[in-house]
Amino acid sequence: MRFGLEQWRTPANLMSLVVQKFGGTSLEDIEKLKNTAKRVAETKRLADHVVVVVSALGKTTDELVDLARQLSASPPEREMDMLLSTGEQISMALLAIALNELGEEAVSMTGQQVEIVTDKAHTKAKIRHVGTKRLFRELRKGRVVIVAGFQGVTPDGEITTLGRGGSDTTAVALAETLHADYCEIFTDVDGVFTADPRLVPEAKKISELSFMEMLEMASSGAKVLQARSVEYARNYNVPLHVRSSFHSGEGTWIKSEDEVMEKAIVSAVTHDFEEAKVTLMGLPDKPGVAASLFGALAKANINVDMIIQNVSEKKLADISFTVPKEDLQRTKKVVEELTESLGARQAIFDDKIAKISLIGAGMRSNPGIAARVFRTLANEGINIEMISTSPIKISCVVREQAGEKAVKSLHDHFGLGSSGGPKEPQGFQEPIPHEPYREDI
Ligand code: ADP
Ligand code: ASP
Ligand code: MG
Repeated sequence: MRFGLEQWRTPANLMSLVVQKFGGTSLEDIEKLKNTAKRVAETKRLADHVVVVVSALGKTTDELVDLARQLSASPPEREMDMLLSTGEQISMALLAIALNELGEEAVSMTGQQVEIVTDKAHTKAKIRHVGTKRLFRELRKGRVVIVAGFQGVTPDGEITTLGRGGSDTTAVALAETLHADYCEIFTDVDGVFTADPRLVPEAKKISELSFMEMLEMASSGAKVLQARSVEYARNYNVPLHVRSSFHSGEGTWIKSEDEVMEKAIVSAVTHDFEEAKVTLMGLPDKPGVAASLFGALAKANINVDMIIQNVSEKKLADISFTVPKEDLQRTKKVVEELTESLGARQAIFDDKIAKISLIGAGMRSNPGIAARVFRTLANEGINIEMISTSPIKISCVVREQAGEKAVKSLHDHFGLGSSGGPKEPQGFQEPIPHEPYREDI
């Protein structure tokens, strides 16, 4: 719903409006906060209206989670939202103070004050509506509006949060609602890289990516953007610019596929060390078993990622699936309650896994990439425990301690690093042309 937007942006009143999001890493200490304020003030000199979304300072959210965990293994989710939403309220007020000090009028607002209305799913709520009335009132006064990211409110007035990394989604939702031309995400790296630069120092910055590729990257572990923010941006076609908060260089543009000039066969390797694997063994091979199991997990609001089922000659099935580690305790409870009624012989819970994924829009039309992934891992002596694919992604679950090696070898093999070039896997003849890896069109 776009309250009053038409009057606001009549042709005679067409003004530039910028939405910028600053992550916790840009707000770690007073110096960084001051720099962020300077950066916002510079933007305000160039644009008519500026809306800023902030995350909690540095590692505040982790520290708050840790405090709650010292008191309880499974704290009530409503109380977690009450606790975690305080982090963003500290940073929004501090940034407003810093901006006012620079002579730039700024006002901070909570999710509730803006009216970021969400559903009732505490700790992973989804935005349903963004109010514009108060935002416009403040913007009309010429003020910079600083919005607390990651938080919203249910129609009943309960505070919710949007899942880890959720400030990205707040920013995209505001950019969409306010019809900003694009949304800027400022972070501690120069953009989106071919692998996490913390793990792979040779990783290269990617200049542009399609929403689909970024969505696959974010949902397979590239934490630089929250997956839901990319989904939102894709649904409403809001271009994203992920860039450094420490300098003004270009970052990575994420936009619709037909606007991406350079199409890569393989764009990036991602990793996720935050998932756990659950295996149910000796299940009866009959209709309804998977429906009962995954129905119960869905009811408990647990996001299941990969699923594999095998049926043995004895007509018994084994099902393995992955869930976020943070949901493992709750998954255990649901599965253990069901083991007997489903007729399973045994349930195994394993949190020592890593999921490694290769992503690229060009995989769709280049067969043989999966075989090269498996061969590369095999050459490193890495065993693959689960596999899943989409048209533009291949994911493998391996042992946790092999994760880093798996990422580095795939990144190297597919020539993604600055010094690398595509390499033919040893002992493996694949009749696919593999050069160049980027097709200019
Ligand atoms: P912020 O506090 O700005 O939200 P995040 O920690 O959420 O920052 O995201 C930035 C981090 O994402 C980087 O420091 C980097 O380690 C990590 N990251 C993981 N994968 C990638 C990738 N492919 N490209 C860039 N950064 C990545
Ligand atoms: N502060 C929240 C988190 O650490 C939200 C965010 O950073 O986007 O997950
Ligand atoms: Mg983040």
